[in-house]
Amino acid sequence: MPSLDEITPHAPHSRADAPFFTRRKPQPRDADVIVIGAGAAGIAAGRALRRRGIDVILVEARDRVGGRAHTIPLAGQPVDIGAHWLHAAGANGLVAQARRLGLALHDAPQEPLLIKGAGIADPQEQSAFMRRWEEIDAAMLAHPADAPARSAAGAFAEAAGGQGHDADRRYDDTIRFLHGAFDSGVDLEDLDATDFAAGQDDADLFVEGGYGALIARLARGLMIHLDTPVTCIDWSGAGIRLTTPHGDLWARHVIVTTPIPLLQREVIRFFPALPLAALEAIHGLRAAQYEHVVLSWPHGPFAGQTNRIVAFEGDARDNLAMLANFDGGCLHYADLGGALLAGLTDPADRISHARAFLTARFGSEAMTRCDALAASDWAGDPWSGCAWTYAPVGGYRHRAALRLPVAERIHFAGEASSATQWGTIGGAWEEGERAAESVLAGLHDQRRSRLRHASMASRHPVIDSGVETRPPESCDPDGAPAG
Ligand SMILES: Cc1cc2nc3c(=O)[nH]c(=O)nc-3n(C[C@H](O)[C@H](O)[C@H](O)COP(=O)(O)OP(=O)(O)OC[C@H]3O[C@@H](n4cnc5c(N)ncnc54)[C@H](O)[C@@H]3O)c2cc1C
Repeated sequence: MPSLDEITPHAPHSRADAPFFTRRKPQPRDADVIVIGAGAAGIAAGRALRRRGIDVILVEARDRVGGRAHTIPLAGQPVDIGAHWLHAAGANGLVAQARRLGLALHDAPQEPLLIKGAGIADPQEQSAFMRRWEEIDAAMLAHPADAPARSAAGAFAEAAGGQGHDADRRYDDTIRFLHGAFDSGVDLEDLDATDFAAGQDDADLFVEGGYGALIARLARGLMIHLDTPVTCIDWSGAGIRLTTPHGDLWARHVIVTTPIPLLQREVIRFFPALPLAALEAIHGLRAAQYEHVVLSWPHGPFAGQTNRIVAFEGDARDNLAMLANFDGGCLHYADLGGALLAGLTDPADRISHARAFLTARFGSEAMTRCDALAASDWAGDPWSGCAWTYAPVGGYRHRAALRLPVAERIHFAGEASSATQWGTIGGAWEEGERAAESVLAGLHDQRRSRLRHASMASRHPVIDSGVETRPPESCDPDGAPAG
C-alpha cells in the first residue's frame, strides 16, 4: 500500500479506462438529435431515441463515458470514485437495466452504525439514535410542497424541537450532518425544505462491478464523439449548429446534459442567448459538494461491518461519514460534503482531514494499517464542477423550469432537472428518457433531412434575458453571423 506521501489524488477525468468509442475514424457530423454529454442522462436519452429509430449522436467532452459515474480499479477491486448507491430502488430505472444484464444487486443497509467516542454505540444507544432519526425524518418529510419556502434547517429545528425524549437530542447534530452534508452535499441552512423532502428515497442497492461500469456498459453501441467539448450552440436558424474544436455539428434538436455549474460559467455559449426563464432556472440552482476518500483499512474498527454506513456522534461542521468494507473487501469510503469542503479544496487536504478525524477517535495505533488509496476531485473537475445540484431556499421551482424546452428544440436534462430523484443517477436517467420523449413529440411531423446545408435565414429575435450573461455575437470566432 502506498504511504500518504505517495498518493496521487485521482482526477475523475483521467484516462484511466479505455474508451469504447473511436475518436479517429470519420464520424457523422449531423443528426436529427445531438445529445451533449455521455453521462447517465445523455446515455438514457441516446438509447431511448435510438430505440425509436431516431438518428442521434452523443458528443462528450471527456475521453470516456459515464460523467459523474466512474468505476476505477483499486487494490484489485472495482471502485466507484463517483456515484455508488442505486438510490430510490423502487423508482430507479437502472435497477431494471442491471437485472437485464444479469448483474447481481445487493441491499445497501440504510441504518447507520453509530460511533460514540472510540467505540461502536451499544444496542440501546443505537436504537435510541434510530428512534430519533425516524421521528425527525417523519416530521421533515411531511413538509408540504406548497408550503411557504423555508430552509431544511428550519424544518429540522421544528421536527427536532417538537417531540422526543430529551436524552435523545444528543444525536441531533449527527442526524443533521447525515441529512445535510452527507446526503445532500450542502448544509441544511442552505437547502430548500421542499427539495429535501422531495428527494428522499426508499431502499438503496449496490450493483456488482460498480455503478460507473454499469452506466458505461449501457453506452455501448451508441454513436459517441469523445474528446469533443461543445463550446457554442447557434440556434438562430432552422437548424442548430454546435461548435466544437473538431468542427461544427448540426442537428434539429439538442439535448443538453452539461452539469449546471458549467452552464452557469457559460462553458457553452448560446446564440441567441437563452430566454429569461431558462437562464433563471440554470442560475437558480446551486452546486452541492461531496467527495470520496478511499481508505484501505483491513483491521480497522469496523471489521465485519460490510457495506455499512458509519456515523459519528459530534459536531455537524467537521463531521464525515463512512461506508465500511464496501463490496465485501477492506476498502472504506470516508465521505466529506457541504461547507467543510470549501476549506479543503485540495484532495490531499481531504485525505489529511479524514486521517486526522479518524486518528482523533481511534488513536494513531489503529491508523498504522489505514492507507488512503485515492481521493475524488469532482469540484475541481472541469467537466463537472460539483457532485450534484441542490435548490436553495425558494429554489425548488427551478427544477421544473429546467424541464421546459427552449423553442421546442433545446432540451435540458440531468440530475438537476429531476424533481424527485435530484442529485442521483436514477434521476438523471429518468430525465434523459423524459427529454427523449419531448424530442420525439417535436420530431413527429418533421421530415428527416440533412441539415448541414439547411438555410439559416429564418432567425429568432434575440431575447433580452435580464440575467447578466455575455451572449456571443455569434458562434463564429470573428463574430460573423452564422449561415
Ligand atoms: C462523489 C460522488 C458521489 C455520488 N454518489 C452518488 C450515489 O451514490 N448515487 C447516485 O445516484 N448519485 C450519486 N452521485 C451523483 C451522480 O453521480 C450524478 O447525479 C449523476 O451522475 C449525474 O448524471 P448526469 O448525466 O446528469 O451528469 P454527468 O454524469 O455529469 O454527465 C454530463 C456529461 O456531460 C459532459 N460534458 C460537460 N460539458 C460538456 C460540453 N461542453 N461538451 C460535451 N460534453 C460535456 C461531461 O463530461 C459528462 O460526461 C454522486 C456524485 C459524486 C460526485
